[in-house]
Amino acid sequence: MKILVPVKRVVDYNVKVRVKADGTGVETAGVKMSMNPFDEIAVEEAVRLKEKGVATEIVAVSLGVAACQETIRTALAMGADRGILVETEVELQPLAVAKLLQALVAKEQPGLVIMGKQAIDDDMNATGQMLAALLGWPQGTFASKLAIDGATATVTREVDGGLETVALALPAVVTADLRLNEPRYASLPNIMKARKKAIETVKPADLGVDPAPRLTLVSVAEPAKRKAGVRVASVAELVAKLRNEAKVI
Ligand code: AMP
Repeated sequence: MKILVPVKRVVDYNVKVRVKADGTGVETAGVKMSMNPFDEIAVEEAVRLKEKGVATEIVAVSLGVAACQETIRTALAMGADRGILVETEVELQPLAVAKLLQALVAKEQPGLVIMGKQAIDDDMNATGQMLAALLGWPQGTFASKLAIDGATATVTREVDGGLETVALALPAVVTADLRLNEPRYASLPNIMKARKKAIETVKPADLGVDPAPRLTLVSVAEPAKRKAGVRVASVAELVAKLRNEAKVI
């Protein structure tokens, strides 16, 4: 079974994100970029399925600017077999990504797509669901456990207040949650080996998709700064402040 793993290049999770002065987005110039952490988990899961003999090939896909090659190389160093870069300067929104992935699925015919539940840059949490809908495939989102048995994927999902287990007929889309696994670090020999693995580059037009944004970003703003707290000398003073100033009791 072939597994397709979409991997997004995002601002590194350790970076303190800053809003651009004109409020049109977040600052990315000179900022460290990395693979979206949930996508690392998705790659790890695919590699484990290959190690178990369930998967035969892992294809890592990234969509965006030429530098997304680096993100694909990271996936290749973790154990993916080859990469596809869908190169565009256009700012990609989930529907465009889902349509491009749909076209790649038609071309590559994977038995499973494993992706992150959410990209940590714009927190859309939409692409996996949209892709499953476009393909008409079953989806197992927020997976914390995945088992494949023949033509069925059993997915344990993290839902409010507990876990839900669903059985999906393959082919299917699975989105990875935090507890699915702990991704490995790529070893130096594997980083060297990854340099020789193939990355094919295609453009959205080659896939017959118009990736133009459908949503307009109106503005981006920093969260309101928290006001400094005050110390009170006694419980009586606290109660008086809550009653007379905050007016909450
Ligand atoms: P989102 O719906 O934007 O929160 O993203 C959910 C998942 O879709 C991510 O974790 C990735 O696996 C995938 N994805 C979204 N955008 C891209 C992209 N530009 N390139 C590769 N994968 C992407």
